[in-house]
Amino acid sequence: MMKFSVSKLSPEGGRLGVLSDIHQSTKQRDVEVLTPACLMYTRGGSVPHLTLDMVRCLPHQSGIVELTVSSFIEYRETMDGFKDGLAKFVGISNALTYLAVQDSCKSAPAGYNDKSTVSVWAPSGRFRLNSASFMSFQRAAKSNITEALCDGDTREGCSKKRIQKAVNKTLQFLDEILEENLNAETCQQTEIFGVIEGGDLLSERLRSTKETAKRPVAGFVLDSFGESFMKEETRWKLLEPIIKELPEDKPRMLPQIGEPLDVLLAIENGIDLFSAFYPYQITGTGCALVFSWSDENKKTLNYQTNRPDDINEGFYIDLNNKKFAEDFSPVLSDCECYCCQHHTKAYINHLLVTKELMAGVLLMSHNVHHYLSYFEAIRQAIKSDTFALMKKHIQEQHMRTDR
Ligand SMILES: [Zn+2]
Repeated sequence: MMKFSVSKLSPEGGRLGVLSDIHQSTKQRDVEVLTPACLMYTRGGSVPHLTLDMVRCLPHQSGIVELTVSSFIEYRETMDGFKDGLAKFVGISNALTYLAVQDSCKSAPAGYNDKSTVSVWAPSGRFRLNSASFMSFQRAAKSNITEALCDGDTREGCSKKRIQKAVNKTLQFLDEILEENLNAETCQQTEIFGVIEGGDLLSERLRSTKETAKRPVAGFVLDSFGESFMKEETRWKLLEPIIKELPEDKPRMLPQIGEPLDVLLAIENGIDLFSAFYPYQITGTGCALVFSWSDENKKTLNYQTNRPDDINEGFYIDLNNKKFAEDFSPVLSDCECYCCQHHTKAYINHLLVTKELMAGVLLMSHNVHHYLSYFEAIRQAIKSDTFALMKKHIQEQHMRTDR
């Protein structure tokens, strides 16, 4: 069974940990995951906009790639025929795989889950899954870690009755999936993460947490905490009492949270794992991440235009803005990513204006690089007891971020 050891509990909040002994085939190399970490976000098995070569050059990767059921469910017969699992199918050779039920970046349409099934949305339409069909897909996918099937369709304003049903159904799925996994041959087993539901009701969240924690799961997923599910202040009020009920020695994942300050607040509360969907979301708007996490790192905001209002940007700059049309400096002057080493803001602005696909490629290569470096900096900050200082620094930029 997967091991999770906490190597440091910071007095300022947050913890450092190591995930190891993750169930894997002998063909995979041993991967140790340092937490807090973000899983590489993918669509259809690839990091959007980037080629595998570009992904391989990214620093500080967690070693786990997030694959989504909805990306592959319509190819389940192909997967059965392929026999070697999703990682090999999409060309992942140096990382473990995490199978997620829904896309972290995109909310599934509301109102489609019924008594015994959960709907996932593939490009060709809706697929209904129950525990048996979900686990049959999982066996073909051969994921190292699998999030149990769950009903997270509990948006803000949803009735108490609906929320209770979602919690009950999710627990029932978990029991069926754990049993199925236990009965599978050893080589077909996976690490199961239990999913905590309960909408924005504290009583239901606590019931879901306590019941899930009683089961032999390898970790926990705190589902439906994203902005379409609850108010921001509710999220932070719920998180603390939930975390108190969870055992120390298992990792906790918060998949729909990615904004730089939210990540720190979640880590402060004891979250270990995230999905790296945020750089993809930012790329889609034509923006580049420019936030800094320490005073030394601040120097990199060295704009050619040198206008004071540029220096006061928040987490990102919008490269669609025509003020960048003649800015021949890189996005960040000492960033080591492919984009900053070879291209200027003016060129990216030009690509955006002319709607060239290359704009997404360059922006994504910078944004993912920046985001993964941020997670490395967070781990270092917890290690060196400078987490509070980093949070202050990020909070200042959060205030300036246009959202
Ligand atoms: Zn860069």
